[in-house]
Amino acid sequence: QKDAPVAVALDGDDLPRGTGMATVPGRAQALFSHDGQITRPAIRALTLASLAPRPDEILWDIGGGSGAISFEWALAGGRAWTIEPRETRQRNIAANIGSFGLEGRVTLCPGAAPAALSGLPEPDAVFVGGGGDAPLFQILWPLLPPGARLVANAVTLETEALLADLHARHGGLLQRIEIAEAAPLGQMRGWQPARPVTQWQVQR
Ligand code: SAH
Repeated sequence: QKDAPVAVALDGDDLPRGTGMATVPGRAQALFSHDGQITRPAIRALTLASLAPRPDEILWDIGGGSGAISFEWALAGGRAWTIEPRETRQRNIAANIGSFGLEGRVTLCPGAAPAALSGLPEPDAVFVGGGGDAPLFQILWPLLPPGARLVANAVTLETEALLADLHARHGGLLQRIEIAEAAPLGQMRGWQPARPVTQWQVQR
């Protein structure tokens, strides 16, 4: 049962071309129930690559939103605990757990970090996509077991400044991800840039 979603995705021999779920992260937004608070597929793919899931590893997904990061982690064979304080988004996460058939692989943790982290199983990786302020990182850092990976994405200047400071203190890799999409510009087309995402990744 626990490998079912991955097996379904790979067993495409008798499907018409292009149907079924893609086997790598960065899956289409339309697959998820969401309210707009969802990482775009290209950024999500890069974030999953940084999180580097291995089979059966445990993720804490802080700031779940729609849970997209948790689902892509679970589809890669891991198990995720999704922390989300907003009730409307908790409902989306619950709906997505059902539609992906990922009960037992993705667990919704209603509430806000850091309080909601107590009692969770020890993580192999932690993603911070929401709620990433200085007090959170102060509590989170000592909770990370040696070797655990931490990835945090920032879109605000305030969070970016915090990640720059954490990078100076703890090392790791700080990168800025800038993506643009072609969009109509008068009769022609031009690049429409998305807000840059600053990403910090580090191993404890
Ligand atoms: N990670 C999602 C996007 C989440 S948007 C994705 O990749 O698709 C950020 C989310 O963080 C919001 O849903 C917000 O409710 C949540 N959030 C804010 N503060 C939080 C906290 N302290 N703990 C957990 N989640 C928090």
